[in-house]
Amino acid sequence: MNYQELDIKKTRELLDKGELKVRELVDFYLKNIEEKNEELNVYLSLFDDLDEQVRAAQEKIDRGESNILTGIPFAIKPNIAIKGKNATAASKILENYIAPYDATVIRKLKEQGVIFMGYVNADEFACGGSGENSAFGSTKNPLDPERVPGGSSSGSAAAVAAHMAMAALGTDTGGSVRQPSSFCGLVGVKPTYGRVSRKGAAAMGSSLDQICPITKTVEDNKIILDVIAGKDIYDMTSIEKDNFLSGEVQLKKKLAVPMSFISTIKNEKALENFKKNLKKLEENGYQIEEVDLDILKYTLPVYYIIMPSELSTNLARYDGLRYGNQVEGENMVDTYFKTRGSGFGEEVKRRIILGTYALSAGYEDQYYNRAGALREKIRAEFKKVMENYDAVLMPTTPDVAFKLGENSEDPIEMYLADIFTVSSNIIGNPALSVPAGTIETEKGKEMPLGLQILANFKEEAKMYKIAEDFQS
Ligand code: GLN
Repeated sequence: MNYQELDIKKTRELLDKGELKVRELVDFYLKNIEEKNEELNVYLSLFDDLDEQVRAAQEKIDRGESNILTGIPFAIKPNIAIKGKNATAASKILENYIAPYDATVIRKLKEQGVIFMGYVNADEFACGGSGENSAFGSTKNPLDPERVPGGSSSGSAAAVAAHMAMAALGTDTGGSVRQPSSFCGLVGVKPTYGRVSRKGAAAMGSSLDQICPITKTVEDNKIILDVIAGKDIYDMTSIEKDNFLSGEVQLKKKLAVPMSFISTIKNEKALENFKKNLKKLEENGYQIEEVDLDILKYTLPVYYIIMPSELSTNLARYDGLRYGNQVEGENMVDTYFKTRGSGFGEEVKRRIILGTYALSAGYEDQYYNRAGALREKIRAEFKKVMENYDAVLMPTTPDVAFKLGENSEDPIEMYLADIFTVSSNIIGNPALSVPAGTIETEKGKEMPLGLQILANFKEEAKMYKIAEDFQS
């Protein structure tokens, strides 16, 4: 059997007909993990109850009680709580932390009988865009191990690309699912803010965070989002499901492109590729129009005020007393300093300092509140443009995956890689990255680029439809 070609629907069919066993499928992924994990550093841990999970899923199938995801192997980002598992968030401070409960998304997947293979690597507390900020070493891009897989859901994307799981969950606060999906040639979706419960995900920027699926195909992605979406009493920002993915999708077949904003891309080949993608959509019956959304140039500065402010507040709970590791000092304050000083990595500390500064007395109006006001303005302008279109198109990233170490000395260069992804988190609307061509990086080597489709609030169905039309 060609396991690499399997998608969720095909696998479902084979499993339900008894032509494929869960054990066989899991063993295929385990074999790849065994062969490639040492080099790529994708999995942090494989779960010790894997055999039990396999048995339970197979029994569910044999009883004729399978759900759409029964027996489907998933890789999980380590900032999503699974009861009894070592949810480190890729941080030293949570090195020995065992999650005491299941995140809501995990509970939903467990009800389906999903197979959780293990926790995969990521940037520490989701802070990064390359996977290089993990306390447990960098992950490498399976398509070119000299390059980063993107981040912060580095291991989630790498696991799917290297056939170490059929699908993965990541989190996206400013691009952390779409950017690595783009770098690894996969489909990544950041749903509408509130679409998926955040209960059980280690909070980064609470007004921006979403848990998201990473998959090989658009259809797989849709299937998973449909399962994990919905209102949750444990997350007051979560929204009703309202059959958002079923029924006919009505499209105007009109798409907007903020070309003057996009044209700032330095890599001409990447820009060319984007234009080629627009042509392809035109050939598939879409009308493409340039729009003025120059206000998007403020999204990155707004993000780098709001996110660190919220992050510094959220990470205050890691004080060595309530969660995770403690480095004992001479008194309580000394303990606090020592625990946090040695427990957090450089980038996380940089952001805590930035956020604490932005929120400090006397500066709040100048930074946090100002960024908030600008956020509303961006939201309003975007909404106005969206009245006439199904979606806004942008590249997912300004370039292909960069080399390991290439940007790690220069945080600004690293932050610039998020230029096209942060807007949907700021506005709250959904966005999807779909594989959209490759460019040659070296002789004989091609790396993928993603096309990003940003839809209106709650209109994931349209976004998936456009992605399908683009691929057809
Ligand atoms: N790369 C972005 C950052 O470093 C996005 C992170 C994320 O989405 N979690 O903040």
